[in-house]
Amino acid sequence: MKKIFVVLEGETGERLLAAAGALAESLGAAAEAVVFGERDPARCFAAGARHVYLVAGAEDEMAKALSLRALVLREKPEIVLLPSTLEFRTAAPMAAAMLETGLTADCTGLSLTDDGLLRQTRPALGGSVSADILCAAARPQMATVQENALPPAVPRPVRDGTVSRETCPAAPAIRLLSALPRENRGLSLREAKVILSGGKGVGSREGFEKLRKLAERIPGAVVGASRGAVSANLAPYECQVGLTGEFVRPPLYIAFGISGAVQHLVGMRNSGTIIAVNTDKDAPIFDYSDVAIVAPWESVAEELLLALQTDTSC
Ligand SMILES: Cc1cc2nc3c(=O)[nH]c(=O)nc-3n(C[C@H](O)[C@H](O)[C@H](O)COP(=O)(O)OP(=O)(O)OC[C@H]3O[C@@H](n4cnc5c(N)ncnc54)[C@H](O)[C@@H]3O)c2cc1C
Repeated sequence: MKKIFVVLEGETGERLLAAAGALAESLGAAAEAVVFGERDPARCFAAGARHVYLVAGAEDEMAKALSLRALVLREKPEIVLLPSTLEFRTAAPMAAAMLETGLTADCTGLSLTDDGLLRQTRPALGGSVSADILCAAARPQMATVQENALPPAVPRPVRDGTVSRETCPAAPAIRLLSALPRENRGLSLREAKVILSGGKGVGSREGFEKLRKLAERIPGAVVGASRGAVSANLAPYECQVGLTGEFVRPPLYIAFGISGAVQHLVGMRNSGTIIAVNTDKDAPIFDYSDVAIVAPWESVAEELLLALQTDTSC
């Protein structure tokens, strides 16, 4: 039976696994999960995996790439889907190069052609068009996927799934000497219920500190950023939302001092409610906002802080 591998990391991946399940059904294939580290296999079965490979000892990107290569050579999946996270944006091209196949990065849509090839859709030309990419000859067909950009698929739970334990075929090439805490401790952008995103208009690191204080007062909130803010060194890359950052869809997205370039919009326009605060009444972000506030971001953030300070009822 043909196989579709879905690589899982951290707590996310169910949406990708469900999407793979739908593809697998049309292709007469089985969706299988490759888990680096630990995860309850029952969660993978519930999301549609027929088999779960639990891979131990793959600590860095090279080790993950080598483990994946070994599994692919042994199991020969038709398709390998990986999350578009920082880690797999590095490991996936390494694995694809070792397997001498192609890789489409940051896909926002997956479907099948009439011939059963994986149609890998991703933004191109700065996000202004969608490109469909096929890998006709080499195998497996590999793609990293912006999981949050995929429409939700109904999972096809598997009752009699199986598990195998795998070990990394090589010692890690990189040794971890120490770890610094990430600035977005706790919730990730993907898990957040509210994203308070700052742009270049926030103007300073102190400004982002204020957004952080605000986020601490709102349950489920984290700070995001535009590439303008990241390039100006106001916020770290791990906060970046957009084409070359994270694709997010929180119930509430508030954009402070973000103009609304297409590369930013593509990463957040699927959010539930979008509020934009900008001093320029013609800022493009207003065209995609449910609520438009033409004002300096500082005054709006200050008002919100005050309101959340005084409201102790919840
Ligand atoms: C290949 C490629 C990939 C890219 N990927 C991404 C990506 O992943 N994510 C991303 O965000 N961008 C991305 N970009 C960059 C994108 O094109 C924009 O340059 C960027 O989004 C602009 O960031 P910004 O809105 O913060 O800054 P600006 O465009 O400079 O906008 C700043 C805004 O702040 C407003 N402002 C100023 N002062 C205040 C104030 N006091 N109060 C309120 N508003 C104020 C201004 O009116 C303005 O609208 C990419 C570009 C390319 C070419």
